[in-house]
Parts: sequence; structure tokens; C-alpha cells
Amino acid sequence: MALADYEGRTPASDPRLTVQHVTHHRRWSPERTARDTCTACGTEFDLVDRHVLVRVDPGDPVVDATGTRSESPPARRRHFCDEACVAAWVGDRGPSSATAAESSQP
Ligand SMILES: [Zn+2]
Repeated sequence: MALADYEGRTPASDPRLTVQHVTHHRRWSPERTARDTCTACGTEFDLVDRHVLVRVDPGDPVVDATGTRSESPPARRRHFCDEACVAAWVGDRGPSSATAAESSQP
């Protein structure tokens, strides 16, 4: 799948979100200290290294019965190691990416 194919999808783990834009990304920084963790697998990496940036529409804010926001809106930018982690996040197993070992399980 191309990265653009994930646009418009909703991740299974967070159905309020809609993927708006997916792109390979590198954040240049004078200090190599900017780090983040992969939304899908939790691996920490340097943002100056090539990774995948996903911009999401966070959906409507969560409002309780009294009209008070019960939580802050989710982050609009999510970082991933690579496309495989984006696929895992949106719950897309792909037509041919599943390994034979997994598909042979009863
Ligand atoms: Zn990852």
C-alpha cells in the first residue's frame, strides 16, 4: 500500500480519529535530541531520522453531561517507525503482508 492509501482511514484502536495525511518525514534539528515513540509499537527514535508522520483529525472533543471537557484532545501528529507500524495501527493486515506462519494457525 502507498502511504496515501491510509488517508481517510480510522485506526481500530482509536475510532474517533481520522487519518488526514501520511508522509515520510525527517525533522531537522540543530541538536539531535528530539525524540518520540512510535504510536504503534512504542519504539523510541530520533525525529531527525527518517520515519512516518501521520496527521490525524482528532474528532469531536469528549464532553461529559455537564458540558465540561473530560479530557484534552488527542495529539494531531503521530510518529511511526515505518509504514508497517502505520498499517498495524489502522488495523490493516494487507492482502499479502501476513506471514505464512501466522496464517497457518487454526
Ligand atoms: Zn513502530
